[in-house]
Amino acid sequence: MIWLVTTIVAKVASSSLLDLFNLKQSCKSLFEVGQDDYVFKTVSMEKVPDVAWTSLSKGATFFVRRCQESENPEALFRLGMTEYFGHGQVKEGHTLLARAAYLGYPAASYVLGIVLICTATDNQTILQGVELLKNALRLKKLSRERTESIIRQMWLKNYIDIPQRSLCSNPNCSKVNNNDLMDDEEEVGNCDACKYDEEIQLFCNKMLRGL
Ligand SMILES: [Zn+2]
Repeated sequence: MIWLVTTIVAKVASSSLLDLFNLKQSCKSLFEVGQDDYVFKTVSMEKVPDVAWTSLSKGATFFVRRCQESENPEALFRLGMTEYFGHGQVKEGHTLLARAAYLGYPAASYVLGIVLICTATDNQTILQGVELLKNALRLKKLSRERTESIIRQMWLKNYIDIPQRSLCSNPNCSKVNNNDLMDDEEEVGNCDACKYDEEIQLFCNKMLRGL
């Protein structure tokens, strides 16, 4: 019974933060269910701004903290981005992004994949990064837009650089990249490594540095 009510609350909550507040206030027993981790793990955070320029209200602060504690993937992603790029807390940011990616949040896989490729000191890490990026690019539009929107709202303290060695080592591809794209466009389109290289450039140059 409690599980059923929890599921219903989570369903309502995932549609709107406001609904959750209303629902919690409407009934004492529902309020108690509304404290359940599952509700906070699945609730939508769209009504809470990504980056609070002024301090959030007490209720909103509590809400965000509960979402983080309950491992809401969106909350983990926001905090991970803030720690990694906003505060330069690389280790904490990395852990949070990894958790959000593990929970299936595409933008977290996208960012973490690129971070791993750009900061790797061994091939194994590069391969992990490529795997994450590959998965995220199945939802390319969603991953890019979510990442770009949060970065646009942040003060950045920490940047990552494009690796010196590109992922694609096919000489025909690099020739295509440097010369006329139009003639061999199909070939570029078919090379996965080139696609990842381009995505890394997009992230490091355009999204992070506005170039
Ligand atoms: Zn290539």
